[in-house]
Amino acid sequence: MPAGDEGELTLTVKMRVSPEPEQEEALLDLMRRYRDALNYSVRAIIANRALSLGKAHKLLYKDLRERYGLPSRAALDCFREAIAIAKAWLRNPKRGDMPTVKSLSMWLTHEQGYRVKGDHVELAGGHRLRVIGYDRRYDSYPSREARLVFRDGEFTLYIFKRVPRPAKYAPKGVLAVDVNEGQIVVGNSSVEVRVETPIERALRYRRLAERLQGKYSSPKYRAWLRRSGIRRRVRHFHRKARNIIEDWARRTSYMIISLAKQSKLAVAREDLTGLVESLRKLPKDHRTALVMLGYRRLAFWVDWQAEKNGVPLFVVEPAGTSSTCPRCGAELVEAGHRRLRCPRCGLEADRDTIAILNIERRALSKMGDL
Ligand SMILES: [Zn+2]
Repeated sequence: MPAGDEGELTLTVKMRVSPEPEQEEALLDLMRRYRDALNYSVRAIIANRALSLGKAHKLLYKDLRERYGLPSRAALDCFREAIAIAKAWLRNPKRGDMPTVKSLSMWLTHEQGYRVKGDHVELAGGHRLRVIGYDRRYDSYPSREARLVFRDGEFTLYIFKRVPRPAKYAPKGVLAVDVNEGQIVVGNSSVEVRVETPIERALRYRRLAERLQGKYSSPKYRAWLRRSGIRRRVRHFHRKARNIIEDWARRTSYMIISLAKQSKLAVAREDLTGLVESLRKLPKDHRTALVMLGYRRLAFWVDWQAEKNGVPLFVVEPAGTSSTCPRCGAELVEAGHRRLRCPRCGLEADRDTIAILNIERRALSKMGDL
């Protein structure tokens, strides 16, 4: 997760863990009580405006220990997490109903809440989890808080780490990124790479999910059939679609950042806020939802990879990038399918190439301002 103080980045290491089979039910029971206690705490904190640790402690600690049976440490972590949720909700000007946590997820303070000891993790209150696998590249950086999540029958521990933010090099030029529904174009005046988006592939899973939902919503199928297996499969298809997008965004951003780093270029992308906003106004269909997700995740990973690798990043104004001439600034005219021509200077190119050149130019002028 790209966040953190000035000189540091926070990243998340994902660790697959597993309790001993005979302890699994007890751990799940603790996680359920934690979730219920968390939802209770969020409401109490908002109602009483108890947004400091001291106030929340006085208001909740006894209840969380006695009514929800949380171990001391879990009670502290629970109202600490509840404060964060309450604050985020209160800060949001468009807030709707009070937030309700449905997933099984537990916040754990480092050392007091959890400890990684060789091949297992110890939780406060005596739970032990076996470590199945994780990325060891960040072992040398100190661990911070963590989150234990139970999903689809598996336990995952997300451990937050602080790593130093690498210094950015002085760029020798710009690598521009242009996104559209079908493809991503990466390039500048001398190079151009095109990458297909996986929207169609992800869409297939969305449609499978939809078909399944439609088929089993008829009353002739008994309720128990609808409830268990079918619902799980529908969720599985939706998740599969999201994973395809996520995986693509991560790999594509890695390619973009590597390309930039090799030639000491800055990366420039358009500010997608307006684009995502306008898509949001369209009728909600699966394709629009996936395209929006793809844009957001790519921007997220490009920004994060740039930070992690010390690659300078420019976010440029998107207005007119595919309708004005990158050479002389005149309004372009259509010249065939996805081709544009400049009536003033005669430049003719593919719409995406035009966008790349404009994004490059805008970033170069920002670089000049530095
Ligand atoms: Zn022109």
